[in-house]
Amino acid sequence: MTDHTALGPGREFDLVRALLARWGDLAAGVGDDAALLDVPAGHCLLASADSAVYGVHFRRDWLTAREIGWRVAAAALSDLAAMAADPLAMLVSLSIPNAWLADIPDLVDGLGDAARATGTRIAGGDLTAARELCIAITVLGSAATPLRRNGARAGDRLYVTGHFGGPLGALAELERGKTPTETARSRFAHPVPRLREARWLAEHGARAAIDISDGLLSDAAHLAAASRARLTIALDGLPTLDGISPDAAARSGEEYELLVASPHALDAADFARRFDIPLTDIGRVDAGDADVVATLHGARVASGGGFDHFS
Ligand SMILES: [Mg+2]
Repeated sequence: MTDHTALGPGREFDLVRALLARWGDLAAGVGDDAALLDVPAGHCLLASADSAVYGVHFRRDWLTAREIGWRVAAAALSDLAAMAADPLAMLVSLSIPNAWLADIPDLVDGLGDAARATGTRIAGGDLTAARELCIAITVLGSAATPLRRNGARAGDRLYVTGHFGGPLGALAELERGKTPTETARSRFAHPVPRLREARWLAEHGARAAIDISDGLLSDAAHLAAASRARLTIALDGLPTLDGISPDAAARSGEEYELLVASPHALDAADFARRFDIPLTDIGRVDAGDADVVATLHGARVASGGGFDHFS
């Protein structure tokens, strides 16, 4: 049941019709001037936009078009996970150069894969011709009590989901013209937004969260600033992949794992059983100036060093 509104004639709308045919049941309610969404009673609406530009965010030789589509959608959905929101819909805006037209079916299949995996409806978007490929995804979600960055309080414990360093390890190999391990490549090409995990964390008492897009230490600094608290992190226990050092893994971007603060201990064994990834206690929230104090083998490591688009 796709209930699209019929579109008039024209090449652009032929392309929209082709995309809708490809997405099938994943897309619904497309074709009016704006998408209509029902938000569950008692929930607030959350919205987040993410874009990926060819040459800035991805290269054609490292990822398939389908993987590129997945990654952009997963990155956008990860921001809903960071807020412990349920995805409602995504809006897909594609700026397409002629050289990419033949890859668009695979690319939109990747977007569809992410929509299917997360139960997110594709509700609309925009198409335009352009000099470089740009994929802009707006995700809409709902939550009764969203997790925010400003909720951490002195005395809270800090936890991270999953393993770190996969994307960093994969990129290091690709840049040297080598083939990354299967695990590292999969973490790079197919990151998984931690939506179900976030709901579990919120239900079990987490009261602040952020997703790791720029690097653990860099994103921890945002949580510290928003909560006006000092985060003390011991990197010794950080689960890493493929021999990546904890120090390097803590600066690895595009991990899409979660950093959460909880006033009490969380059941990491139950979490690992349910989601098949670890939940690791990596530190605590202290009173004091907003800052991140990270240590490895008892020595302080420099904070920062995450990804910054404008540095
Ligand atoms: Mg984020």
